[in-house]
Amino acid sequence: MTEILIRNCAHVLTMDDEARELSGCDILLRDGVIAAIGQGLQTTGEIVDATGALVTPGLVNTHHHLYQTLTRAVPGAQDALLFGWLKTLYPIWAGFTPDHMRVSALTGLAELALSGCTMTSDHLYLYPNGSRLDDTIDAAREIGLRFHPTRGAMSIGESAGGLPPDSLVEREDEILRDAVRVIDAFHDPAEGAMIRVGVAPCSPFSVSRELMRDAALLARDKGVMLHTHLAENDEDIAYSQAQFGCRPGQYAEELGWTGADVWHAHCVKLDAQEIDLFARSRTGVAHCPCSNCRLGSGIAPVRAMRDAGVRVGLGVDGSASNDAGNLVAEARQVMLLQRVSRGADAMSAREALYIATRGGAEVLGRDDCGQVAVGKRADLALWDIGGIESAGSWDRAALLLAGPMQVRDLFVEGRQVVRDGHVVTIDLQDVITQQTRLARALAESA
Ligand SMILES: [Zn+2]
Repeated sequence: MTEILIRNCAHVLTMDDEARELSGCDILLRDGVIAAIGQGLQTTGEIVDATGALVTPGLVNTHHHLYQTLTRAVPGAQDALLFGWLKTLYPIWAGFTPDHMRVSALTGLAELALSGCTMTSDHLYLYPNGSRLDDTIDAAREIGLRFHPTRGAMSIGESAGGLPPDSLVEREDEILRDAVRVIDAFHDPAEGAMIRVGVAPCSPFSVSRELMRDAALLARDKGVMLHTHLAENDEDIAYSQAQFGCRPGQYAEELGWTGADVWHAHCVKLDAQEIDLFARSRTGVAHCPCSNCRLGSGIAPVRAMRDAGVRVGLGVDGSASNDAGNLVAEARQVMLLQRVSRGADAMSAREALYIATRGGAEVLGRDDCGQVAVGKRADLALWDIGGIESAGSWDRAALLLAGPMQVRDLFVEGRQVVRDGHVVTIDLQDVITQQTRLARALAESA
């Protein structure tokens, strides 16, 4: 039996069914689960003093491309729209190896952990030079984050009228075969799972209609989730109407891409009918506010989605289009963006934090995570509200209005990943050194 007692939490935002907020309490973690919440709790295990700390559920990231941490701020892609941006970066990504995949994933995962994230999904849709989904899973196990990797794919290359170079696309039968392999090897359907695999063709414009349909059939057969990019910007809508003769929502529905086991990234351009479709079908959305700003895609109708009952989580998106990977900063950004489009009362700091925690857990089908409640998994973020960012704040639980933007401590499945602002499960300085060396070599050969 392993126990950690988090003693004397200044304030706890539980995100439980009653939206309780607690002050001056202890939280006992036992064997990966929250065993008790109350005052004067005892343990024979380790004690962490949480005096001066705000405790929230660990944040959940529902969309990322971890490999892209190696291509942040690439000059030719800094100011391009989505399609031009992709065409600049594809040739660079074509040079990646398994080592690039593992080191970039460690970098992205560490960055997420420091911003309060305990669970993340990843969308890896290119596999050059022997790269495999396994490379990123190794990284997640090393650092100790809860991980939902998705087996992405592209199958329509330049010679077939697609965007990516032919060297980055795969045959559709091979894509499906490898999806089966990684599901069988890594997917854990059990409560408390640290790894769950999903199936995720990159987007409707980079694979065939048949692969979209077959991916949905495979996912249902295996009991895993489905993920892709949808309705990201105006170009995306125009492409759908020109190529498929319908809007993205209709295309998704026809191919089996709606339901509680599906979540789509972006959805910036969903119209009222599509929002209604997503609400009725329980289809989830990964909202990526900074990426949408960075690529000029627009402001997703998150207020309308939530009012209609659509499940919404947050995503940092790939680091080539953000270019940061700070999840709590995304939570602040969704709050600010909804206010830009709908007024200052459009979204509170607490609602944005709900989306960032329990909202994301719901999108990923994780009822066992996303709340500080007895019986839920012990995934917690501790924020130092005794520091400069919170000094003078009248409501220090309104984390997103003032700060801080980095955690003091982070626990995943009851295991400490960040302590006093430092990642303790990996040698982060060594990872940064390797990442910098790899990025420099890519820049020199570009
Ligand atoms: Zn993306």
